[in-house]
Amino acid sequence: MKGKEKIVVIGGGASGFFAAINIARLNPQTNVVILEKTSKLLSKVKVSGGGRCNVTHACFDPKELSWHYPRGEKELLGPLHHFGVGDIIEWFEERGVELKVEEDGRMFPSSNSSQTIIDCFLEEAKKLAISIKMSTEVLKITKTNNFQLQCKDGVIEADKIVVGVGGNSKEKHYEFLNELGLNIIAPIPSLFTFNLPKHPSNQLMGLSINATVKLKATDFEEYGPVLFTHWGMSGPVILKLSAKAAKYLFAKSYQFEFAVCWMDNAESFIEEQRKRYGNKLVWKTSLSEIPKRLWTYFIDRASIASDKNWADLNKEEVERLEQVLSNDLYTANGKTTFKEEFVTCGGLELGEVNMKTMESKKVEGLYFCGEVLDVDAVTGGFNFQAAWTTSYRAALAISGK
Ligand SMILES: Cc1cc2nc3c(=O)[nH]c(=O)nc-3n(C[C@H](O)[C@H](O)[C@H](O)COP(=O)(O)OP(=O)(O)OC[C@H]3O[C@@H](n4cnc5c(N)ncnc54)[C@H](O)[C@@H]3O)c2cc1C
Repeated sequence: MKGKEKIVVIGGGASGFFAAINIARLNPQTNVVILEKTSKLLSKVKVSGGGRCNVTHACFDPKELSWHYPRGEKELLGPLHHFGVGDIIEWFEERGVELKVEEDGRMFPSSNSSQTIIDCFLEEAKKLAISIKMSTEVLKITKTNNFQLQCKDGVIEADKIVVGVGGNSKEKHYEFLNELGLNIIAPIPSLFTFNLPKHPSNQLMGLSINATVKLKATDFEEYGPVLFTHWGMSGPVILKLSAKAAKYLFAKSYQFEFAVCWMDNAESFIEEQRKRYGNKLVWKTSLSEIPKRLWTYFIDRASIASDKNWADLNKEEVERLEQVLSNDLYTANGKTTFKEEFVTCGGLELGEVNMKTMESKKVEGLYFCGEVLDVDAVTGGFNFQAAWTTSYRAALAISGK
């Protein structure tokens, strides 16, 4: 009589655990093993979302949700319809983990602690008798009738494999997949801030304002909060651009120009100020929509003297001010990781995977989930959602459901 089917999950992170738990739950006739190369489990979950774990995002329309994935938008649409935000909320709820929504749509455990998610996964894994081997790095996979996973301490056999090893900017990370003849899109960083070393704007550190940022000579453009930092610019708009233009910015070695439009209607705004406050000093103008520090910075940037009033501005000064307000040019010199929160653009080419089952089209019985795939998103809980969605799909397929 044939024994229990053995499923080996490579990677003890978010996607690996979610896949393992659901395989064991959906098909108790399987023997599920997680192999984790380090001595820690779920280490990214632990530090995620500043220690609170931004589990998902309250965006319930799969189409709208998919827009947040610069890599994977089209391919994830089907899987997100199948196991989306509502499903993960319910999955956690069924296990006593309540999630809450913040104003910007990000969802966290109500406990405000990533440990709640870790405890839930560890408890489920224990209940389902999933065996976990730590400090076990998979170095090579071969396949005869079944799979052989070569680790430092020997060979582990498996009937099916789920690869949930996450992303990494080092190509070596993907070597064992390359050796299987799988196509890996060269990994590069995503989610970073723009460096403006020793730029006068560094003094505005901590200030945040809505603006449109456009990468020069490209179509990459975003509107929303821009945050000044002591090294350059950050905030949701910059992070979104860094994700959407990750490949372009990498090709430019992170030396590039961008323009900020702080105000759409700069021309009419200046006209209005000149009419209303003709004899008032320009730098002393008090504006509800622009903080004082920022206004002073704009005036300096437009080289307008402190003794100039609105009526006395000459044509060149008006043009310079208009330029600063509507098309303020910057040259970025490098990037900085956002709060150590980064994801990898690149990984297993999505064309190599059947997105209905997450099974490799080239190697039967080999499944993929999480960030090892060429899928990544902007910040906000979307990266974990991709991990839950792809893992669940793989689990269903493996369980024959
Ligand atoms: C600091 C930080 C904060 C983040 N916060 C958020 C957030 O709040 N919300 C969000 O949506 N996303 C967040 N992200 C992104 C999110 O953490 C990842 O997208 C997610 O963890 C991917 O899950 P994964 O299981 O695919 O990979 P991982 O979580 O990276 O897990 C992969 C596991 O596989 C192991 N492994 C690797 N190679 C091997 C091998 N050869 N053999 C055995 N084991 C191996 C690794 O050691 C690791 O434990 C954050 C990322 C970082 C770095």
